Amino acid sequence: MDNPILQQPLILLDGAIGTELDNQIETSHLPWSLDGLVFYPHLLQKVHQDYIEAGAQVITINGFRTNQRTLARVDWNQIELPDTASDELKGIWAEKNWEALEKVLNHLAVNIAQQARHASGKNVLIAGNLAPLEDCFAPEKSPSLKVAFPEHQQKAKHLADAGVDLILIETMNRIEESEAALQAALETDLPVWISFIFDSQQTLLSEEPLDELATMLKRYATSSLCGVLLNCFSMTLMDRALPQLVKALSDTALRVGAYANVEGLSEGGIWQRHDALTPELYLDHAQRWITDGASIIGGCCGTTPQDIRVLNKHLF
Ligand SMILES: [Zn+2]
Repeated sequence: MDNPILQQPLILLDGAIGTELDNQIETSHLPWSLDGLVFYPHLLQKVHQDYIEAGAQVITINGFRTNQRTLARVDWNQIELPDTASDELKGIWAEKNWEALEKVLNHLAVNIAQQARHASGKNVLIAGNLAPLEDCFAPEKSPSLKVAFPEHQQKAKHLADAGVDLILIETMNRIEESEAALQAALETDLPVWISFIFDSQQTLLSEEPLDELATMLKRYATSSLCGVLLNCFSMTLMDRALPQLVKALSDTALRVGAYANVEGLSEGGIWQRHDALTPELYLDHAQRWITDGASIIGGCCGTTPQDIRVLNKHLF
């Protein structure tokens, strides 16, 4: 928490990793861009480096769904590991040991981000991420606090052991699981940010109200929780939701932040970025979020290093 980057008046995050990998290669082997880790680690490192070069001060590992619950559902029989995979990974893969696989993939994700930082020669922070154990767009599947806590705890421990600088809990859609992830992250003693996906300006995707969420968050306001963000919904909804979050947390010292997505379903049923959503338009919205009280800004699905470059150029 006393890290100078976390004390800056404005902190710039990176943009999307998964969709950026999809832009560059056909990533179809594994869910949620796990194939960045397994098949394309060098490209993944390059994407991290591109974000650092663009000006990101905090980069997030490619670990959105590297949890045991997701890994156990993958049909690994359909997947052949590349020759370049480590012997450790090959052994774990053969054993179908999901617990060990979670550990090795999270360490690998952190290691690739660390290599990118080293190669760039820049002092950036590396965030390890916790995310909903089920689909981030399906809050009805979100497990209870009691069920979710040990699963988040396990991953949080892997992230801390691997050497992340902070934990970013992101795209959370329901209060109970969010609290489980928050408790798990706080056990590491690392600085923690937590980010939510909203359905309207004052409700989570679960339709739970913002005031209930704020009540839960305030119970942790004197812990190492130091930022509350919103992510993975449209810039226009962000314009309306962010001021509500700022207001709800105005009696705390918690920083507030935003990283929107710029994708929508095309007529062909594919998620893609709309041409009208330019980096300059993203900058316009980001400036508005900062005026409204945000002090952590980045990009979610569909954003690219060019968005971060434009933000860096005009916001600092
Ligand atoms: Zn997103």
